[in-house]
This record gives sequence, C-alpha cells and structure tokens, in this order.
Amino acid sequence: MNEKVLKEKLRLLKAELDKATLVAVSKYSPVEDVTQVYKLGQLDFGENRVPDLKAKSDYFIEQNLSDVRWHFIGNLQTNKVKELVKIPNLWAIHSVDSLHLLQELLKRESEFAGEKLHLFFQIKTSHELEKSGFESMEELDEAIELLMSRKNSKYVFYGLMTMGAVRTTDIRGAAIKSFQELKLIRNNLLKKYKLKELKLSMGMSGDYKEALSEGADFIRVGSLIFKE
Ligand SMILES: *Cc1c(COP(=O)(O)O)cnc(C)c1O
Repeated sequence: MNEKVLKEKLRLLKAELDKATLVAVSKYSPVEDVTQVYKLGQLDFGENRVPDLKAKSDYFIEQNLSDVRWHFIGNLQTNKVKELVKIPNLWAIHSVDSLHLLQELLKRESEFAGEKLHLFFQIKTSHELEKSGFESMEELDEAIELLMSRKNSKYVFYGLMTMGAVRTTDIRGAAIKSFQELKLIRNNLLKKYKLKELKLSMGMSGDYKEALSEGADFIRVGSLIFKE
C-alpha cells in the first residue's frame, strides 16, 4: 500500500477517535499489508476467520512482531474454538453470540495461552435474520451469570458488540438506532450486575462516525484503511 496515503488515513482516523480504540479489520488483506500498518504503530487488528487469523499470527511470530493484539470479530463455530483460543496474542472475542458458544469457550479455557481474554457479547440490535447475536435477554442474562460465576477466570466480561442493519434505505439512521439500543442494554446491565464499566464495540467503515458520537469504545474499521 502507498505509505504516504496510508499514514494520512491513519492520522485522520486517529484524530477522530478521542478515547476509543481502533481495531483495524484486516480480514480481506494480505499479511504484508497488515505488517505495514503494524509498523506504523497500529497494534489492534480484527479477523473474522480462525484459519486466516492463525496464518497471520504465525507470520507475526516469525517476524518477531510481538506487540500485536488480535481481535476475533466473526461468526465463531464451536468446532473452531479450540484452535482460536490457542492463538498467541489473542486479546478479545467481539462475537460471543450464544450461551452455547460461551460454554464451549469455557470448556477450552485451560488452552488459552494469554493472561486475559476480553469477551464481548454480540447483540442482535438490528433484528436481521442473517446477523448473529443474542436476541433473548434471558439467554444473555444466563450467559453473563455463567461467566461472572467463574472464579479466577482468564475470561473477562468486557463489553457488548453490535452491527447496524444493512437492509435499509437509511443506513446511518438505522445504525444510530442500533447503537442507541446497545447503549441502553449496556446501561441496564451495569445497574443489574453492579458493574463499573462495559465497553461498546460498534461502528465500521460506513458508520464509525455515528458510533463514535454514540459513545463507542472500540470501532472496527477495515476497508477504509486497507482499500486504496
Ligand atoms: C468486516 C467487518 C468489519 C469491518 O468492515 P468494513 O466495512 O470493511 O470497515 C467490522 N466488523 C465486523 C464484524 C466485520 O465482519
């Protein structure tokens, strides 16, 4: 990628972030592009397929690029959990979308090699069929209670994630609605479980500005960074 263009894009994005964290979504990009962005000081990267993440992680290890923080953001099948949690520098999973998946993650906890794994529950605020995520608040409560009942766990209940609707003529308006709904759920959970904080992972290339103004803590931006 053109170094000058890339630097400028990152500079502009970072200027908008305030306290939010930028997760650079590298899922469509070759690992050379990912390391180029890493060398400009971007340490958080998002991937949505376990084999791709594994391949990129292997390459980073070979190249001794050890400060990377990997964020898994995609649909996670239970039969891929074992491989995922073993990946060094796995920092977060933004897409814990069911009680069943959480149970599988908990089963594999001893295979997680890092210190802490930050878990986000994905909420289906858009109510679109093709999206995954919790829709039932009862199931979400069960998952939270299960996670919080574990003593000395390496898994942290860290936040909530959502995606805006795509099947709409008003993408930005629908995104804002989704983000506000996520915030509302977050505020209810803070009260209900007496938690100090829960982070919000929301906003992609097309709607990160809306997400930031709604209080996103993590934005997940791919094409804006990696596509020329
Ligand atoms: C692909 C993806 C992104 C990034 O999308 P862009 O539009 O390329 O910024 C963010 N979040 C999730 C869950 C994704 O799958």
